[in-house]
Amino acid sequence: MRYHSTRGSAPDLDFAGATLAGLASDGGLYVPAEWPTMTRDQIAALAGLDYAETAVRVMLPFVGDSLSEDELRTLCRAAYGRFSHAAVTPLVQLDHDQWLLELFHGPTLAFKDVALQLLGLLFERFLHGTDQRLTIVGATSGDTGSAAIDAVAGRTNIDIFMLHPAGRVSDVQRRQMTTVLDTNVHNIAIAGDFDTAQALVKAMFNDPGFSGRFRLSAVNSINWARLMAQIVYYFYAAVRLGCPDRPIAFSVPTGNFGDVFAGYVAARMGLPITRLIVATNVNDILHRALTNGDYSSASVTPTATPSMDIQVSSNFERLLHDLGGRDGLALAQQMQGFEASRAMRLTNAQSQGAAGLFTSARIDADGMAHAMRWAHDHAAQTLDPHTAIALAAALESDIDGPVVTLATAHPAKFPDAVEAAIGTHATLPARVGDLFDREERYVTLPATFDAVTSWIAERATPRG
Ligand SMILES: *Cc1c(COP(=O)(O)O)cnc(C)c1O
Repeated sequence: MRYHSTRGSAPDLDFAGATLAGLASDGGLYVPAEWPTMTRDQIAALAGLDYAETAVRVMLPFVGDSLSEDELRTLCRAAYGRFSHAAVTPLVQLDHDQWLLELFHGPTLAFKDVALQLLGLLFERFLHGTDQRLTIVGATSGDTGSAAIDAVAGRTNIDIFMLHPAGRVSDVQRRQMTTVLDTNVHNIAIAGDFDTAQALVKAMFNDPGFSGRFRLSAVNSINWARLMAQIVYYFYAAVRLGCPDRPIAFSVPTGNFGDVFAGYVAARMGLPITRLIVATNVNDILHRALTNGDYSSASVTPTATPSMDIQVSSNFERLLHDLGGRDGLALAQQMQGFEASRAMRLTNAQSQGAAGLFTSARIDADGMAHAMRWAHDHAAQTLDPHTAIALAAALESDIDGPVVTLATAHPAKFPDAVEAAIGTHATLPARVGDLFDREERYVTLPATFDAVTSWIAERATPRG
């Protein structure tokens, strides 16, 4: 399988190349040259398979010649063997037609583990036998950082430098990053907010002086391999609820549009999905884009759902590219216009194409708390706030048939919001229960390019 950049001028890469690169050199994102499809019979045949085997069937066409089927199977077994539930992503029934898909049984208790556990193994496999050392640089508002660190801690040939906004991630989230003491793990608290940290990371990738010295890579959801791994659970859940005979809808708590874009790919591959509900909090750029074509970023309002507090959804570019006839140069122009003015209109083709599969909902703090109480009272389920946003959107939709809400984090990651809504304290699972007794290690740096790059340069290994 070949991978193109959404902006049409970076060189095509194979799967291994796209995985190691993360971002394309023209500023675009890598997408497969075409969508592989599965027939009804192939989808029906998934029903008897466990999660790792489902993953092999769904991902194999995307991997192309970069891995043999057996190699992919070995990696999937290793990645999903670290989950604490035998089903990896189990379904829970809330009422007649409402379901939860629990994606938080990985090591760091958020759905990011599903993709990053595999990505860590893919990095190691693709670097093996080369003399290259990868320098992963990322910014996190919470969940990506801990999941990425867990996935690469102690791996040979990889260093990770993770920036988080000082004082703006929860104690659980910070400790999940800073208590990992392997020598290849470097946590940097930035005196600034998440957007500042993210802008510093972008500046490092765009600075030829810095990016020329190190083999930089990205672990946020601009990395195609992450999205690919997330396609799997749409298939896994859907066949368990009667697909392909019975079509299914999904409601997805959305920030960077990575998770819900994986659902779009599943639909393009042939999975009968009736609707994808894009659930946003009050930071509603995607809701506005999908309801009236207005993709314009405002300032971010901090909420109880920090992973959805975004101004710009990087992966939305992949959707616009696909719906805009895959015209890379036209999309590059559209995105450059957006980057200059922080606003753009979707084209008619993009708006109409999106309307065929997506709906959206904007859920405020009351709506979120209401959904948490509903799940608690009706089904004895404690939800994390992000999941509650998506459940609220599912409950207010008028969809007939099963609706699966993606449960993206364990409630104990966000104990304060849970306690405020339902009055009970969500406790951490036993396997991470000693988090508050572990030693922490991190450095706090000013939010300047020079301070951060010189600290990293002293510790990273230059390209060979
Ligand atoms: C990352 C995250 C999201 C948003 O996912 P995107 O792929 O960025 O849309 C939602 N909920 C939780 C708990 C997350 O960690």
